[in-house]
Amino acid sequence: MSLCNICPRNCNVDRSAQTGFCSMTDTVKISRAALHMWEEPCISGDKGSGTVFFSGCNMKCVFCQNKEISTGGFGKDITVERLAESFLQLQEKGALNINLVTPTHYTLQIIDAVKKARQQGLKLPIVYNTSSYEKVETIRLLADVVDIWLPDFKYTDNFAAQRYSLAPDYVQMAKAAIDEMVKQQPECIFDDEGIIQKGVIVRHLVLPGQVQRAKEAVEYLYNRYGDSIFISIMSQYTPCTNLENYPEINRKITPEEYDRVVDYAVEIGVENGFLQEGESASESFIPPFDLAGVE
Ligand code: SF4
Repeated sequence: MSLCNICPRNCNVDRSAQTGFCSMTDTVKISRAALHMWEEPCISGDKGSGTVFFSGCNMKCVFCQNKEISTGGFGKDITVERLAESFLQLQEKGALNINLVTPTHYTLQIIDAVKKARQQGLKLPIVYNTSSYEKVETIRLLADVVDIWLPDFKYTDNFAAQRYSLAPDYVQMAKAAIDEMVKQQPECIFDDEGIIQKGVIVRHLVLPGQVQRAKEAVEYLYNRYGDSIFISIMSQYTPCTNLENYPEINRKITPEEYDRVVDYAVEIGVENGFLQEGESASESFIPPFDLAGVE
């Protein structure tokens, strides 16, 4: 981390003394480590996913639902040892997995923490919940650490990626990163209760007015990976922040928009998918960032 180039931002900063685009130093900062019931059913199950929310982010999505922690900086600094301990505490609470949310800028510390926790008895699968704005080299570092890749595939064109997330090369970076994830975990494996143990689930959040882009995302994923991955089509987009400069996305998606994307997925043959019920387009998905499980 003396010259941080962990992600495509290539900030080249010494994070012991400075911060780059993600706004985080080399000290791990988290805002919550708790059981979470709102992931896909094969991740949350009935017992919950042991979800660790990292502060900071290497994207700047204008519609981010977690701005308080992603750009607001809320959270508490912890050591790698404490992070490992929090994984073990989640295991004791009955979590089905350890789910690392927005982890990219702490990749190296996470590798260290997972190794430490495994030496102390961590048995749970590790879920890596990322925007996919990743470098292939960084994803390769995680090959022995991550069991379940949970990447977003946010955009199919870099115009939108730049407009909404200041990431002008998102599409090629995300495609290459997801290729590497599928290479590492080419098949989804579930236990007897239907809880995923290994594999790749790619999410696409449907944005208002962007049905065609959503169809392109689903089509790309299905043409490339078939049913070796699961595609999760998400309807929960909710404008939580001031989007007056982005009027085209300053509303929820309509049921009709969502249905058109789902119908298209069915039409092209997608079998391994997850859908969200209409009710799920709600702010209830945003957990309280209250340092639960951190202190
Ligand atoms: S992890 Fe942060 S500092 Fe490092 S390259 Fe990415 S945005 Fe920059």
